[in-house]
Amino acid sequence: MTDIVVPGDLIGASEEYLAGEGTYEERGKIFSAITGTVETNKKDRTVRVLPVMKTPPVLKTGDIVVGRVVDLKNAVVLVDIARIKGQENREIANADQGAIHISNVKDSYVAKLDTEFDQQDIIKAKVIDEKSLRLSTVEKDLGVIKALCSRCRTPLVRKQNKLECPSCERIETRKISDDYGKGII
Ligand SMILES: [Zn+2]
Repeated sequence: MTDIVVPGDLIGASEEYLAGEGTYEERGKIFSAITGTVETNKKDRTVRVLPVMKTPPVLKTGDIVVGRVVDLKNAVVLVDIARIKGQENREIANADQGAIHISNVKDSYVAKLDTEFDQQDIIKAKVIDEKSLRLSTVEKDLGVIKALCSRCRTPLVRKQNKLECPSCERIETRKISDDYGKGII
């Protein structure tokens, strides 16, 4: 059995390996950029992630997806969609990037997106338009499910409606999913 990794999973240290395809490096650590299986090459000291190859599902309105925040614009968050709930081991056919408009973040007014999301956050969202890949995180179980401290990159721990860094004690805010930190979709 090989383990499936998802975007944001820690898969190695850059002092040990070179970051190959399907990975990205940040502050000396190598993370998976895609959903797939990890392959390490002892000879050229690379670690890479191979996409899971199966018949790819197509995203539909109403699907719950998991993805990684890649950019914050004034009114939109861009998300690399990785998986569909219930079809976790399959790459998605029509998925590249979805977008959450500031009006679809939560059911109360959002003034600025950077109080709700940060780059590299792993989020769970619902597809509200399959053509434009518009996403929503309004419902309680939707939103950020995994986030790193923006100062020291330690995984943040939920404290009521805030997130706290167990390492440097920094407090951050997010649109937190009820499933934050549970490791489940
Ligand atoms: Zn920290």
